[in-house]
Amino acid sequence: MSVFLVSDVHLSARRPERVAAFLSFLGTRARGAQRLYILGDLFDLWLGDDDTTPPHPAVLDALSRLTDSGTAVYALHGNHDFLMGPGFETHTGCRLLPDPWVANIYGRRVLLSHGDRLCSDDLEYQRWRASTRDPEHQRAFLAQPLAARSERAARIRKHSVERARLKPQDILDVSQQAVVDAMRAHGVDCLVHGHTHRPAVHRLSLDGRPGVRIVLGDWYEGDVLLRWDERGYRLAELGSAQQTLIAHKLGSRP
Ligand code: MN
Repeated sequence: MSVFLVSDVHLSARRPERVAAFLSFLGTRARGAQRLYILGDLFDLWLGDDDTTPPHPAVLDALSRLTDSGTAVYALHGNHDFLMGPGFETHTGCRLLPDPWVANIYGRRVLLSHGDRLCSDDLEYQRWRASTRDPEHQRAFLAQPLAARSERAARIRKHSVERARLKPQDILDVSQQAVVDAMRAHGVDCLVHGHTHRPAVHRLSLDGRPGVRIVLGDWYEGDVLLRWDERGYRLAELGSAQQTLIAHKLGSRP
């Protein structure tokens, strides 16, 4: 049995081959896994549980078949799909988790987060994030017709792409202080997140003790997958033909 973690799949009809790759993953490798964690931005855009834009229906059906087969699937919100709500859970059998969330993976307490909240140096983004997570704001947005929501989202996306181009790269990455603070607050020595699309395993020091921050990558070209079993973890890029190992730690039986 194993546990899989993915992030930033960004499913969209604009990338049919990535949709196919993810659906194939759900129908093959993910079957028989004990758990699958999706750490945000599963969808490139989710404008509410009534947003049935393709490929949403096919993905929901595939997730539903996976949970029916016995794999528990958990999802966190990303900054592209934070409007996933109870309708998503009902349709798929997945469970939405708050961000951050402490998971117990083979006896190890692992802090899971999409990662955008850790980019605390980007004050402009954090202000936008806070306003869009406000329940009142969300209710008003969801009350608009889907076409109006879609128009608004397109404007926001254009603006955020332009703003991101003007910001230094390190502002768009997680803040080391935010990482250490979050890990300390939850009493963990391991954090897994996505969002930055910079897959890597970073060693760090937490009050003099070793800690690790595992960054999942996206599913644009190399589909990045973290696989964990009782022997340890393996972060790999699946690619089309061969699998490229990014990092692993095996033999660390808890
Ligand atoms: Mn993101």
